[in-house]
Amino acid sequence: VAAYIVNLKGESSEGHRLILTLHDLTESRRMQQMRVDFVANASHELRTPLAILIGALETLMGPARNDLEAHQRFFTMMQAQSLRMSQLIDDLLSLSQIEINEHSRPSDRVDLGQVLQGVINLLTAKSSELGKSIALQMPEDKVFVTGDFDQLTQIFTNLIDNALKYSREESEIRVEIAVAAREARATVIDEGEGIPEEHLARLTERFYRVDSDRSRKLGGTGLGLAIVKHIVSRHRGHLEIDSVVGKGSKFSVRLPLSGS
Ligand code: ADP
Repeated sequence: VAAYIVNLKGESSEGHRLILTLHDLTESRRMQQMRVDFVANASHELRTPLAILIGALETLMGPARNDLEAHQRFFTMMQAQSLRMSQLIDDLLSLSQIEINEHSRPSDRVDLGQVLQGVINLLTAKSSELGKSIALQMPEDKVFVTGDFDQLTQIFTNLIDNALKYSREESEIRVEIAVAAREARATVIDEGEGIPEEHLARLTERFYRVDSDRSRKLGGTGLGLAIVKHIVSRHRGHLEIDSVVGKGSKFSVRLPLSGS
């Protein structure tokens, strides 16, 4: 916002004063554009599985009405598309819930090792199905951060789930906790395909994907890292992403230690 006072020299010696106030609309236009894009993207993401569901129902009620073998295939497909929509709606709701609370800083004392161990326990079955393993390394002393247990769980569920999705077959995912300079650092390292540098800055944008088809096939909604970014910011933390194409990626979350 800029304000200018302009003296208009009229006939009277005092003159007239005109105050011009100029508002910089760039930022608010950008925010508005982002909101419009978000609604358009979300609608598109929901419409695709819905179109498949409608098509499948029409086939089941029409040409494939008496084809029992086709019924099974269509039901499996309809189940997958319904789950996709349900996951997307869950992620959209999580995102809006996080945004509502974004300005209130969480204040619980949370054992970071317990969070990570819990996430790893939940993902172990999926990991072994994929022939992968998850190794956790942490200091002997417990590491406590100030935060919200469920939201911290969500951060690391998203990061470790991505590491499982985008890493090579039979590879290992390493999860490390370290403490330095009044901060805790939790890092998820995969031996995966890596991410080309030009994508790194945009990865945490909603619906941004390096390869959309691949992400969808793997059950991704394109919202996981946007959710991570918002939770990390609510915790006054930092997210760092390092990646080398063909070698793998490293996602580090720095969080303030409890009591610091
Ligand atoms: P998605 O649901 O598509 O996985 P995310 O927001 O979690 O959405 O991630 C955005 C994109 O970042 C992914 O589509 C993928 O292209 C890329 N990505 C995320 N994590 C990794 C990883 N560990 N290795 C390689 N690419 C990744």
